Amino acid sequence: KLRVRFAPSPTGYLHIGGARTALFNYLLARKEQGTFVLRIEDTDLERSSRESVDAILRAMEWLELDYDEGPYYQSERFELYQQKIDQLLAEGKAYRCYCTAEELEAKRQQAINEKRKPKYDGTCRDRSDQPAGRPHVVRFRASQEGETAFDDLIKGPISFRNDELDDLIIRRSDGSPTYNFVVVVDDATMGINLVLRGDDHVNNTPRQIQLYQALGYPVPRFAHVPMILGADKTRLSKRHGATSVMAYREQGYLPEAMVNYLVRLGWSHGDQEIFSMDELIELFSLDHVGRSAGVFNPEKLLWLNAHYIKTGDAERLAGLMREKLVAEGIDVAAGPDPVRVVMSLQERARTIVELAEGARFFYLDRVEYDEKDRAKLLTLAQRPLLERLKEVFAGAKTFAATELKQGFQAVLDELGLGFGKGAQPLRVAMTGSRGGPDLFELIEILGRERVVARIDQALE
Ligand code: GLU
Repeated sequence: KLRVRFAPSPTGYLHIGGARTALFNYLLARKEQGTFVLRIEDTDLERSSRESVDAILRAMEWLELDYDEGPYYQSERFELYQQKIDQLLAEGKAYRCYCTAEELEAKRQQAINEKRKPKYDGTCRDRSDQPAGRPHVVRFRASQEGETAFDDLIKGPISFRNDELDDLIIRRSDGSPTYNFVVVVDDATMGINLVLRGDDHVNNTPRQIQLYQALGYPVPRFAHVPMILGADKTRLSKRHGATSVMAYREQGYLPEAMVNYLVRLGWSHGDQEIFSMDELIELFSLDHVGRSAGVFNPEKLLWLNAHYIKTGDAERLAGLMREKLVAEGIDVAAGPDPVRVVMSLQERARTIVELAEGARFFYLDRVEYDEKDRAKLLTLAQRPLLERLKEVFAGAKTFAATELKQGFQAVLDELGLGFGKGAQPLRVAMTGSRGGPDLFELIEILGRERVVARIDQALE
């Protein structure tokens, strides 16, 4: 049975790259009815924070990446790590190193001066004395011969010469275990059999494989996902736009658009662009994860979001739109039905923020005019038109868009006006400007009372 995990370090929000790693793991677990484990890698107590943990959990919840086990916290597992370090020490597979930072730095400088690759020289490898009470680290006695190889499920075969690998520090002088060590103990004891993560960890993999072997654990399979670049082909960063997943929620993106976007950053299925979560669970596989870096494209994300807004359930969208409007202090309850408002706008709005902006005018007691449009379209010349429309709308029987349109046409005929000559002032009177959804649909949605009040405002 497949057991995979997502192992974020809680040193900030969940970023695009991390979310993609989580998603790929999630999809594989679901596809193969395996188990998706969440592990919080908070061994670095200084840089980790509860807020970051919460932010990561919230983002995963938003994307609906449910995990089956966890979250486990490394900070609660220190005893296990110490036990395993003691085991390696007892077996001679690790040793205490008393070299001071200054000594190591001097040797490093010397190597650089002599144009050698800096590497721990093994001074303490075979020392027989164990000076009590002297500060020390614990190093892993890494094999110096041969090579360490693995068959990456995305990148293919990868190998490293062992004489290039250092005797890794597994416990710092303050007693805390290091990342490469704890990640192995955790993945092994949690039964993880496929490690899928960002390719910034490729260089750690041979060290980790040696640790698995030294600890007597089976070595899992590895899959390293290429990183994500900005449009200028440099590593994705804030310069390329928001990198926090939740920032996109703030900007009015839907989680299904984000998931659909993330999965396509590196994976493809022919030229299909739109995928539901269920489809992804069925179709996703590592065979079609590319070897080259994905390029972050905000326009494509926006395009996907527009698709999901256009085809989304109006009731759900109305709930999200309402949140935004209420946050702006708009009294939605006193205005027209938000579901109908959404239905009139979702064809063109690309984000929830655009929905809320488009919906604003429906809910204001008084129209906020675009000054140019008002100056041009609500003048003395339009008074007879607006007065007649007020009478017709006030007396409409059903107040349905078709009836309103007929009544409007009758007034135009009566006054000898073309359609645009009448429609434009009416639109400005209703919405404040010349944009917006279908005129008679929006009038129907506004309702008789508000429509009459708005014409009155235009006649003031
Ligand atoms: N905690 C590591 C990180 O955030 C991930 C470790 C792993 O996936 O092996 O980069």
